[in-house]
Amino acid sequence: MATSFAFDNTFAAQMDGFFLPAEAAAFPSPELVVLNEPLAMTLGLEVQPLRDDAAAIFSGQSVPENADPIAQFYAGHQFGGFSPQLGDGRALLLGELVDAEGRRFDLQLKGSGPTEFSRGGDGKASLGPMLREHVISEAMHALGVPTTRSLAVVTTGEPVFRERPLPGAVLARVAASHLRVGTFEYFASRQDITSTRRLADYTIERHYPHLAGTPNPYVGLLNAVVDAQAELIAQWMMVGFIHGVMNTDNVALSGETIDYGPCAFMDRFDPRTVYSSIDHRGRYAYGNQPGIGQWNIARFAETLLPLLDDDKDVAMEHARKSLQAFALRYQTAWTKGMRAKLGIVEAEDEDESLATALTTLLEGARLDYTKAMRGLSSVARGSDDMFADVEGFDAWAARWLARIDREPGGRGGAAERMDTINPIYIPRNHLVEEALGAAVDGDLDPMHRLLEAVTDPFTRRDGLDRYAEPAPEAFDDGYKTFCGT
Ligand code: AMP
Ligand code: MG
Repeated sequence: MATSFAFDNTFAAQMDGFFLPAEAAAFPSPELVVLNEPLAMTLGLEVQPLRDDAAAIFSGQSVPENADPIAQFYAGHQFGGFSPQLGDGRALLLGELVDAEGRRFDLQLKGSGPTEFSRGGDGKASLGPMLREHVISEAMHALGVPTTRSLAVVTTGEPVFRERPLPGAVLARVAASHLRVGTFEYFASRQDITSTRRLADYTIERHYPHLAGTPNPYVGLLNAVVDAQAELIAQWMMVGFIHGVMNTDNVALSGETIDYGPCAFMDRFDPRTVYSSIDHRGRYAYGNQPGIGQWNIARFAETLLPLLDDDKDVAMEHARKSLQAFALRYQTAWTKGMRAKLGIVEAEDEDESLATALTTLLEGARLDYTKAMRGLSSVARGSDDMFADVEGFDAWAARWLARIDREPGGRGGAAERMDTINPIYIPRNHLVEEALGAAVDGDLDPMHRLLEAVTDPFTRRDGLDRYAEPAPEAFDDGYKTFCGT
C-alpha cells in the first residue's frame, strides 16, 4: 500500500470511554466505484496511489498505518422517542486528517460491517444508498450548504439482503466530526455529568475553540450550536432540501448536514412535502424542519443543564433563552437567504413580507421551486413567460421590481447576482433514481453525468437541459424515498 494518511487521532487518544475498538467485516472482492479526487487532494492524499489502494482501504480490508478504527457511542431521539443506545452500528471511524488550511476531519467508513452497536443489524450498506449519499452530499457542498462529504464509494463483492439481495458497498465519509446531539444524550441520560463535561470540553476545543476559557463556555457551546443549526436549516430551506430523518442522532454539533438517508429535494413548492417512506405523519416535512431543529436543540440544552449553572433555575433560564434565540436566528437567516435569492443586498424592513408573499404564490400555483426561483432573474431581465398563468404574480413582480430598482445595478445587477445563488441543477429525484438504478445494474455513466451537472449547479451548460427540468407530474406524486440501511 503506497497511500500514506497523516492521521492525527484526537478522539481516540483523548476520549477513552466514548468509543469501542472496531474492525471491518471481511469482504470477498472490494472494488472502487467512485473516488472524489478533488476532495482527496484537499486532504493531502495522493490521487494515483489512492486509486490503486482505495478498494482495500475504504472497504476496511487494509487498515492504514496510524489509523485507530473505532465505533462511537451515541443515543438519540428517533421520531420523538428516546433510544438510549444507538452508536455506530454500521460505521467505523478510521481517524482524523488535517487539511492544508488546518481544518480537522474525521474519515469514517459507513457500511463496513457489524460492531458492538449493531443491535441485530448486519452493519452493512448497499450500493444505491451509498451512491445517493455521495451524489447528494456533493451537490449540497457545491450549493454552499455545510455538509459532510463523500471521499469514495466501494463495492464489497458480497450481496446484502434487504427486501432482495443488493450489491454491498461502503462509503468513505469525511466530516468535521461525528459528534452529535445524540452523543451528549448518551452520557447525559445516564446522569454521567463527568463524561458530559468531558464531551463538552472536547466539542468546544474541536469546533468552537474561541469559547475555551470564557466565563461560561457551556452556555457559549449551546449558543454556538443554536447558531450553527439555525443557519444550516435556513440554508436547507433556501435550496428546497428535505433531510427526512432529523433525529437527534443525525444532528451534528459542527453544523454540517449529516446522515443522508431518505433525503430529497422538493420539486413543487409545498411546505407539507414528505418523501420518506417511514415518515408516516410528516414529522420531518419540508416546512416542519425549522420547528424540529428547535426541538432538537431543546434536547441538546437538556443534556447541558447541569453544566450551564449550579442553580437549576438559572440553568433553565439559559436554556430557555437559547431556544428563543434559535427562532430569531432562524428567521433572520431565512430572510437574509431569501433576500439574496431575490437579488437584494441592502436590507429593508419589507423584505421578509416580500419573500413570504412569493412563497404563498409558489405554493398556490404548485410551481417547481428550483425552476421558479431561477426563473425570476429572467423576469428581472424583462421576460415573464414562465409566470404568465400564475394568479397574482404580476402584482407581486411589480412590487419586487420596484424594490430591486433601488438596489446596486438595478434589475440587471440583481439578475446577475441571482444567477450565482439560485441553482439550475439540483439532484432531482427522478434523475437520482435513474442514476442509482443504472449504477446498481453496472452502468455508472448516468451517475457521472448527474454529478457533472450538480457539482457545478449555477452555470448553464449545453447538453444538460434535462437536468434542469422537473420530473413528469406522475413521478412526483407517488415518489417515496427509503432509509439507507
Ligand atoms: P441511521 O438511520 O443511519 O441514522 O441509523 C440509526 C441507527 O441504526 C444507528 O445507530 C446506526 O448505526 C444503526 N443502523 C442503521 N443501519 C444499520 C445496519 N444495517 N446494521 C446495524 N446497525 C444499523
Ligand atoms: Mg444516523
